[in-house]
Amino acid sequence: MAESKLFLKENPTMADFQQYVKEMKAERGFRVEPIYECCLLAEEVGELISAVRKNTKGGSIGSGSVAGNVKLELADVLIYLCSIANIHGISLEEAFREKEEINKQRTWKRL
Ligand SMILES: [Mg+2]
Repeated sequence: MAESKLFLKENPTMADFQQYVKEMKAERGFRVEPIYECCLLAEEVGELISAVRKNTKGGSIGSGSVAGNVKLELADVLIYLCSIANIHGISLEEAFREKEEINKQRTWKRL
C-alpha cells in the first residue's frame, strides 16, 4: 500500500477541510456521485444518532452492541458534508455565513 500524501494543516479553514476531502476521495479512489454521497451522509448521521443515544445517561445498549464514538461519527458526517459541497462547487463557509444571515432575520418562539 502506497503511503498517503494527505495532510491537513494546523488550524484549517473550512476550505482546507473541503480540499482535503477532495484529495482524499481521489487518493483512495472512492466513487463520488451526488446521490451516493447523500446516502452515505444519511448513514453517517444515523451512526451519529446511535452513538449519541448509546452514550446518553439512561440509554441502553443491547448485548452484542457497542457504544458508538460520537467524536468519530461527527468527523464522518463532516467528511460527507464536505464531499457533497465539493460536488456542487459550494463553499461551506459561504453557505454557513449566507444561511446564518437568513436565520438572523427570522424570529424564534418557544412552543
Ligand atoms: Mg461512521
